Amino acid sequence: MKILVAARISEEGIKKLKEKYEVEIMYNPEESELVEKIKDFDGLVVRSKPKVTRKVIEAGKKLKVIGRAGVGLDNIDLETAKERGIKVVNSPNASSESVAELVFALVLALARKVIKADRSLRDNKWIKKDLRGIELAGKTIGIIGYGRIGAHVAKIGNGFDMKSIAYDVIINEELAKKYGVVYKTLDEVLRESDIITLHVPLLPQTKHMIGEEQFKMMKKTAILVNASRGGTIDEKALYNALKNNEIYGACLDVFENEPPFDNPLLELENTVFTQHLGANTNEAQTKAGIIIAEEIMRIL
Ligand code: NAD
Repeated sequence: MKILVAARISEEGIKKLKEKYEVEIMYNPEESELVEKIKDFDGLVVRSKPKVTRKVIEAGKKLKVIGRAGVGLDNIDLETAKERGIKVVNSPNASSESVAELVFALVLALARKVIKADRSLRDNKWIKKDLRGIELAGKTIGIIGYGRIGAHVAKIGNGFDMKSIAYDVIINEELAKKYGVVYKTLDEVLRESDIITLHVPLLPQTKHMIGEEQFKMMKKTAILVNASRGGTIDEKALYNALKNNEIYGACLDVFENEPPFDNPLLELENTVFTQHLGANTNEAQTKAGIIIAEEIMRIL
């Protein structure tokens, strides 16, 4: 059987596929190239690109499985795949640890003023009195969306001697017990947390779930973290909350529009930003390739 790898996945993943299948690599083809190529293949591997449209799927006469290395299936026409009995698989577990670790990298950077300390020292300034930070031990971390990543956040939080509370639409008592997490309502999480971190998918129900009203409930000392999807926070309301010092600060890995050039948030001081780097580690990328190869083998 033949697999077309149409996006850059880890060498380990490709090696695994080659153990069982004939593998051809064609990184990020145009739709017309993919339509032409796909007819001979039993499996297709993509990432967030290329787009797997109806045209591509219908041209895949032998196609049985589409593997998306990573999370999110928005580039794949799932309806057409379902109509034609083609299975779609992904690797949502591959990056959970990496994303959770980035949450703490961001929180510590903001809480200990790491960026300001680094920048001022490079300017030959020794300004210790302006660089007093906040300790994490004993603080409450509020996890909104207690799924795969949320659970890893709670696990790491335990290492910092933090108390974890969570809000989720699905209650998983076993997972909560595992890391000593207590479920609360959204309002309680917003009111009681020192650090609030979002780990929900972007859905109509989660779009702008943190807006003006929610910022009013937060502690003045709260730090808000978003490493989920940009649209979950109303960025205008966040800008106002930060500008008016309604909260201590915000750490963002994701934005409503990426890259967020010209975003007014980038002008604010009480913030730390990264460039949608949650899953951008050697380990997460290696795992994503291996998991997708295993998933394809399982289907075929
Ligand atoms: P998951 O499905 O394991 O967990 C999501 C949780 O959110 C679930 O427990 C679900 O019940 C809950 N949820 C859904 N709707 C909700 C609502 N309306 N209110 C409260 N909770 C709700 O997902 P995950 O693997 O933990 O990923 C979480 C998020 O992280 C996703 O948005 C994903 O796209 C994002 N992500 C970001 C990066 C990055 O690079 N920054 C990398 C991977 C994943």
